[in-house]
Formats: sequence, structure tokens, C-alpha cells
Amino acid sequence: MTQKFGPATLAIPGPSTAPERVLRAMHRASPNIYEGELVDMMPGIVADLKAVARTAHDVSIYICNGHGTWEAALSNTLSRGDQVLVLATGRFAQGWKEMGESLHLKARMIDFGTDAAVELEQVAAALAADTDHQIKAVLCCHTDTASSVRNDIAGLGQLLSDTGHPALFMVDCIASLACEPFEMDRWGVDVMITGCQKGLMTPAGMGFVFHGPRAWAAHETADLRSGYWDWESRARPKMFYQRFCGTAPTHHLYGLREALNMLVHEEGIEQVWARHERNARAVWAAVDHWAEQGVVQPNVADRANRSTAVTTLRLTEGSVVPLRRWAEEEAGVTLGVGLGLDINVPRGDNLFRIGHMGHLNAHSLLGTLAATEAAMLATNTPFHPGGVAEAIKVYAAV
Ligand SMILES: *Cc1c(COP(=O)(O)O)cnc(C)c1O
Repeated sequence: MTQKFGPATLAIPGPSTAPERVLRAMHRASPNIYEGELVDMMPGIVADLKAVARTAHDVSIYICNGHGTWEAALSNTLSRGDQVLVLATGRFAQGWKEMGESLHLKARMIDFGTDAAVELEQVAAALAADTDHQIKAVLCCHTDTASSVRNDIAGLGQLLSDTGHPALFMVDCIASLACEPFEMDRWGVDVMITGCQKGLMTPAGMGFVFHGPRAWAAHETADLRSGYWDWESRARPKMFYQRFCGTAPTHHLYGLREALNMLVHEEGIEQVWARHERNARAVWAAVDHWAEQGVVQPNVADRANRSTAVTTLRLTEGSVVPLRRWAEEEAGVTLGVGLGLDINVPRGDNLFRIGHMGHLNAHSLLGTLAATEAAMLATNTPFHPGGVAEAIKVYAAV
């Protein structure tokens, strides 16, 4: 017998749960793409996206996922053979690096491991050693979604500006935008990329690249530019259709409009960040309690280095497969798979992830945590019971 019938919950770190309102906004007839509502709504969408990114600069919008924005960021600013410095704290910066290598960039990586954040001193040393400015761009993930490490983007931006190194600063905020405080302009970020399916609560299918004046200057000489990905007409279109290099993602734009109404105009982005932080503290309260005994550990020990959008848990012994299966089949909660962080466990069966990004509150997240605790109990996974009670205290503020 299964007990999963009832509302299903997706607790993976992207795609996140799309609110009913967003889905309903998308359920409509195809619109006129030459004039009228869709075209008129575009300036407001651009303004609201920039408000979420905290930038006064430009945004290029693509019909693509996060991987597409990796390519767009690099191809608009760099040339064949250019060197990039990749700061890795999990798996996703490596993915960006591989995308760069496929574009014939030379990538140098500093690997900070899979449970700690970027160390500014090491980056400072690498930049100082690069006296002839071979490094054209520094690439970093704000949140690495595999490890759930969150990096100090403000600190890195300050460091780049203090050293005076001319490299562009590019940040992957695919898992963090609208989940963590982020200030593109104040923190000195030249290029920021994100997708619509995580903090922006819209079904997967749109990617965004935000870019400032230093990135525009690099764009002038970048020889990796290509017709479809080029910013030129996307960011500053003379005609509506140029923004998307063809037909607009019509229904996604209606969904995104509704999501931005919720995030920017109803809740307010700072309140969105505060909600994520409280949700994250509830998850950490549960996880740190579970970890007091048994085999379940948070992947990132130091709370200061933890993402507020996703938490990776590690079993020091055994496999997460039965636990994830129980949660899905018996409790209707789909937990995130582990992405291999250990060479000797390539499939990541020692890890699982709780996504806490997007449309979530005490009710939904406590459900996920309780189902996770039940799954550990049901599968005889040794842990310290009572984590959910600790999470409840975070919400009740006692
Ligand atoms: C999800 C994610 C990606 C990949 O996005 P896709 O839409 O799956 O291509 C890249 N980087 C980070 C940090 C992510 O969280």
C-alpha cells in the first residue's frame, strides 16, 4: 500500500514549485506577438528583473535553461584562447568551466573542495601572480547547488576592485537569485546569469544574463560572439522580436509577469530574502539536530557558508536510495538526488538534497522536513529524532 495520494511536493533544488497563480497566468490562448498586451508588458518585466538583480544595467533574455546562459555569458565577452579563472566549491563551477573549454577558452580552476566556501586569500594570490593580466574573467557560483555551499560574492567583488585586476567578474546566480541577498551593482558584478525555474518560480525555459558597462566594453572585441547569443539586439532591441531573436516565449512571459508581481510588487524582494533565510534556518535546525547522532550530516558544517536555497545532506554510511524512495512513494515528497561530490561515490548515493527555494513557507517546508524525518525512521537510517520540533521553534520564534 502506498500513502502518497494527496498533493505531491517537489523538494528538489530546481525546478522549484511553480505557484498556481503562475501556472494559471500561462493557461491562455496564444497572444499577438506584434503589438498589444505582450509587447506592452515587456518594459515592466525588464524593470522588475533588474530590480530583483539590483542592477541599473542591461538584461539579455533567452529561451534556454541555465546551461545556455553559461554559454551566453562567455561568448559575448571573450575570445578563443582567453584564460578564465574558475572558483569551484562543488560541481556547478566545473560545468561552467567545461562549457568554456568547449568554446576554446583556457580554464584555470581553484578547487576549494565540496564543503567550504571560496577563500578570498587564495583568489587574491592568484590575481596578484597574474601580473600580465592573462585572466580575462573570474567565474564563481553564488550558491553551488550540488554542495549547497554559498560564496561571499560581495567579498570577491571587493577583492577584484581592491587588486585593480581588470578581469570581468561573472557570477552564476541560477540557484540563488530571489533566494539570497544579491546586489549586482554594489558588489561589482559585471555579468550575472540566472534561470526562471528556481527562485523566479516559473516553469523552466527562460534564461537571463545581466551585464554591465565593463562587460559591454569586452563585448566590442569578443570573437566568440555568435548571431543567436549576441547581446547586441537582445538587450537593446529596436523591435520587440529582436529581443528574443525570433518568436518570444509567449506563455513563459505571462508566467514570469505573475511571478514578478508576487516577488517584487506584493511581497517585496527584501522580504523574499528574509522568508528564505527563515526557511533555511528551519531546515538547518532540523538537520543539525538529526546530525547529533547517527549517520546523517549536513554537507556544509559552517552555517555562514550555507545556501539559503538548498541543503545537501550526507550519509556517512549507507545509501539514500531507500530513504528517497520512501519519501516519494509513502509521503508524496520528492527529495533531490545527490550530485556526485566524491570520486568514490560517483552516483552520489551518499547524498540527498532538500530544495528550499521559491514558493515555500512554514507549512510547506515543515511538511517536507517531517516527511524526511519519517523516511529516515521508516528506513532504519540512524539519526537523532526530533529535528522537526527544532524547526517548529524557528517559525514560532521560541
Ligand atoms: C540549476 C543550476 C544550473 C543549471 O541550470 P539548468 O537550467 O539545469 O541548465 C547551473 N548552475 C547552478 C548554480 C544551478 O543551480
